[in-house]
Amino acid sequence: MRKIAILGSTGSIGTQTLEVVEQNGDIQVTALAAGGNVERMEQQIRKFRPALACMGDEKKARELKGRTADLDVRITAGMEGLLEVATEPEAELLVTAIVGMIGIRPTIAAMEAGKDIALANKETLVTAGHIIMPLAKEKNVRILPVDSEHSAIFQCLNGEDKRAVHKLLLTASGGPFRGWTKEQLNKVQVEDALKHPNWTMGRKITIDSSTMVNKGLEVMEAKWLFGVSMDQVQVVIQPQSVIHSMVEFEDGAVMAQLGAPDMKLPIQYALYYPERRFLPGERLDFTKLKSISFEVPDREVFGGLKLAYKAGRRGGSLPTVFNAANEYAVAKFLEREISYPAIVEMIESAMEHHKTVEQPDVAQILDAERETYEFLESRW
Ligand code: NDP
Repeated sequence: MRKIAILGSTGSIGTQTLEVVEQNGDIQVTALAAGGNVERMEQQIRKFRPALACMGDEKKARELKGRTADLDVRITAGMEGLLEVATEPEAELLVTAIVGMIGIRPTIAAMEAGKDIALANKETLVTAGHIIMPLAKEKNVRILPVDSEHSAIFQCLNGEDKRAVHKLLLTASGGPFRGWTKEQLNKVQVEDALKHPNWTMGRKITIDSSTMVNKGLEVMEAKWLFGVSMDQVQVVIQPQSVIHSMVEFEDGAVMAQLGAPDMKLPIQYALYYPERRFLPGERLDFTKLKSISFEVPDREVFGGLKLAYKAGRRGGSLPTVFNAANEYAVAKFLEREISYPAIVEMIESAMEHHKTVEQPDVAQILDAERETYEFLESRW
């Protein structure tokens, strides 16, 4: 029986991972970690019976302990707890479905303990790709992408010589504001930005999709995962979200992966790779699909994408600043403290202010994150 641990089990990816586990019935969940959702964590513990569970802080952990006193489960908290979940001895694979840069240290710890990673937490690769990818090689562990675009590329590359890749075509829905002008974006409210046309996701990534910052993070993630340059990754708008991404090879052949927009497909593929299993749910029906269309992203209106290329090309600690400034700004936007265009303005000003550190280690990455927060707090 496969054994897995999950960071971020109560979130969008975490709960869908557990749905896949439940549907298949042959995976044992040995450890779970979440932030503050004690109620959902209790339900998950009762259903999946992990030996270990972690909450974001001591208070939540105490609450969970009280609720699960009748069960044989050890409860931990905070970063220490996350590290324990990540390295739980029985698990062979860790699903990193936690949101934010808090995922870096547990992911590294899991890899050092020899665990394969089903990677949803894109912040880890964006900020620490130069540490993660060589470590994966050294420890002989697999990084299996969960992000639908990266899973699509991973599937297209099955059995192919990676040296024959000419470019990666990363598809994007374009979000709810595709085709809008800068003036129109000035008026966007939280509710507008939380309405994604095709995917149901966590709040932060939904905002990131609307600004196309998410696509920028994905370009950086693809650079590390597939060993290509930023300029070999082209973003293509494909509004129906039917083509999940494509690979163009040296001979001009293009391979694409298509499917209904359902995160359970890439999640299941990562959990069982290289095996393919039956997955219940919606299927693509080409008799009903009227068209698949393509557009070029507008980098002037969606300035976050342009800044992501700048950060990814420059490398070092700059992608961390891009990511941290965005995390800070999105939280402020969700709290209705800043306007929608201010998200990208904050990223730009933090990047301009930062002195890039080459090849930062984990402590320097976390310093760059903290300094970015402090800078934005003092300026905005
Ligand atoms: P959600 O916001 O839905 O879930 C985040 C999870 O992280 C929750 O379980 C949350 O716990 C947990 N968490 C937050 N803070 C802490 C903490 N301090 N300690 C422990 N756990 C914590 O996010 P998503 O599932 O949407 O996204 C997760 C990651 O996957 C992100 O990196 C995102 O970019 C990536 N991703 C998501 C996709 C999607 O379709 N949703 C697609 C591709 C990638 P709690 O709720 O209990 O506080």
